[in-house]
Amino acid sequence: MLIDLHCDTISVLLKNVQDRELRKNNLCVDIEKLRQGGSLAQFFALYVNMENVKNPFEYAMVMLDKFYQEVSANSTEIAIARDYNEMMANMEKGKISAFLTLEEGGVIKGKLENLRNFYRLGVRLMTLTWNYPNEIGYPNFEWRYQAQGLTAFGKEVVAEMNRLGMIIDVSHLSDQGFYDVASLSQQPFIASHSNSRAMTNHPRNLTDDMIRILAEKSGVLGLNFAASFLGSSETSKIEDMIRHANHIYQVGGAEVLAIGTDFDGTAPNLDIIHAGQMNHLRDALAKNGFTASELDKIWYQNSGRLIKEVCHSINNIDSN
Ligand SMILES: [Zn+2]
Repeated sequence: MLIDLHCDTISVLLKNVQDRELRKNNLCVDIEKLRQGGSLAQFFALYVNMENVKNPFEYAMVMLDKFYQEVSANSTEIAIARDYNEMMANMEKGKISAFLTLEEGGVIKGKLENLRNFYRLGVRLMTLTWNYPNEIGYPNFEWRYQAQGLTAFGKEVVAEMNRLGMIIDVSHLSDQGFYDVASLSQQPFIASHSNSRAMTNHPRNLTDDMIRILAEKSGVLGLNFAASFLGSSETSKIEDMIRHANHIYQVGGAEVLAIGTDFDGTAPNLDIIHAGQMNHLRDALAKNGFTASELDKIWYQNSGRLIKEVCHSINNIDSN
């Protein structure tokens, strides 16, 4: 079983002329491949590049509609999950769970009411920034904003996401933003698709200090397949994934490492070419000394624990 914390498939399905269906396509993620890869849950990002769209909020809504249409068209295979219990209920019915996420906090346009409305529509995670500064904070883009943290509104967002039971994602966020979230958040948070900066000096990766803090706060880090975060090769190499996994494991312990492939968001030159081949990585990690129980933690238990802890079921977010 696998929980993958990040893919950009929905945004690609929306843009593409040919591959427009989640059931079967030529991308890294479709339902057939998810089945093959033993998917328990796939996190689907509503990813918005604010420079390419006129109205980021509206574009996120268009993507949300596409997502719901694809899930309805395949309702015997996949269903939306909003918390741990829904994920387990889906599993019992033989269905893959789809968690909805926002990748770019700018889509809420500096308004908590937009955040709450996305929550009401099923969104359970928000990546606070993508590669641009927004109302919430600053990204770790080309090392430009490392020391700039959350804005006053960003701090309100952290508190409101805690109250709602939404997962705070610090992937893409500046270093100072990471530390602000770490000190403010009352709940565990995640870096959904980032690797180790000690292994590859890229601003999208986490330092050892950050990995330790993330682990102390019961958060998780999803191992990312982007070549530039993994090493110097142009291909996303399994041997580099093992290098990062080993290091993150040594620094943060057994409870912090998870999977956040970034499928359909990275260049397609991958050792693991699609979601159906995840067992290649698992086998390689096993050969490198990871035990079956350690691999189960990485594959789904650490992320499952986090979902259970953060996405508490509340019936009415508008009371209290
Ligand atoms: Zn990303």
